[in-house]
Amino acid sequence: MANQKSVYMDHSATTATDPEVVQAMIPWFSNQYGNPSSLYKLARESKTAIENARSKVATAIGAKPEEIFFTSGGTESDNWALIGTAFALRKKGNHIITSGIEHHAIQHTCEYLEKQGFSVTYLPVDESGKIRTADLKSAITDGTILVSVMFANNEIGTIQPVKEIGKICREKGILFHTDAVQAIGNIPIDVGDLNIDLLSLSSHKFYGPKGTGALFIRKGVRIDNYIHGGGQERRKRAGTENVPGIVGLGTAIEKVTRNLEDNSNRIRVLRDRLLDRILSEIPHTRLNGHRTDRLAGNINVSFEFIEGESLLLLLDHAGIAASTGSACSSGSLEPSHVLLAIGLRAEIAHGSLRLTLGRENTEEDNEYVFAELKKAVERLRAMSPLYADYLKKRSRHV
Ligand SMILES: *Cc1c(COP(=O)(O)O)cnc(C)c1O
Repeated sequence: MANQKSVYMDHSATTATDPEVVQAMIPWFSNQYGNPSSLYKLARESKTAIENARSKVATAIGAKPEEIFFTSGGTESDNWALIGTAFALRKKGNHIITSGIEHHAIQHTCEYLEKQGFSVTYLPVDESGKIRTADLKSAITDGTILVSVMFANNEIGTIQPVKEIGKICREKGILFHTDAVQAIGNIPIDVGDLNIDLLSLSSHKFYGPKGTGALFIRKGVRIDNYIHGGGQERRKRAGTENVPGIVGLGTAIEKVTRNLEDNSNRIRVLRDRLLDRILSEIPHTRLNGHRTDRLAGNINVSFEFIEGESLLLLLDHAGIAASTGSACSSGSLEPSHVLLAIGLRAEIAHGSLRLTLGRENTEEDNEYVFAELKKAVERLRAMSPLYADYLKKRSRHV
């Protein structure tokens, strides 16, 4: 088929690297290859490039450059924040509080820490996906050393009451970590104003390259090393630096925070148009997550009587990239822990679809996605025994 239309609506999974970012990275793959730890000019130039990127990250979140540490991505930053503080503060206590809807990089790390003898409280969320600060307050004990609650959820887009969480933690003298991987570039963040002690970010979620991220560690926070080896990153994170990746991250975060408001407003308008049409023109559909306190590009909807996986296949066939609420990455069909945590029944969770819009999406993309989605849902329902059952029951009641 020549020139099949293709639409990318999976920006929460990853984003295309900005061409300007690629341009900024290229020299650091080729003639600027010096090892930043060496002492000659070529090496010092690499070192300077890293320090420039560090300043850009610090500026983007209201931190100091010496509080930014580069990592291999969001997953490593999350592991380091949790494992590093848990072991450093073990003498003070062994209790960690998190939410029941964290990304696996937090959830599975907490499960690992439980095996190491730590005790973890997983806070429930309300039907919109927010934790209740009253639950947080009552979960805190004398042994609580760390609270880790994500800034915005990757599946349903719900934004947590981060400022209130930060305030509670600061008053109690407990460290507050937030996985802000989905929030950077979407929501303005100032770690001082929000009382955040540790923050994870990942470049490929904001139009930067994959395999590079950062952890903000507030000055004075006690944290063990996680990657052991040489003395890079002021002896806190070993390994020869990913210079092109770090330069890309710095360029991307600077651009995305500069244009944050304009971009997210435009994306929000586009998202609302598509969302409103889906909810009003496709019957037996519900929105998952909060109506307004959600990431600008996020749509997460459940279609009754169908399987998200089948829907994805039909959309893929039409050239549309989207996600579902089943943990398809593991090859299993477990419904998403996030959708179950907001109270969805497993069958409704199975019929869920995530569309995440980004910078390059247009009104034309919306039109195409809506038309293909409506067709696909109708087609799957026409084949669904559950839907046939429903129609039969309904006709008996008329
Ligand atoms: C993508 C993501 C991660 C993992 O980041 P990587 O850089 O892909 O390892 C962690 N947390 C959230 C909320 C994410 O969306």
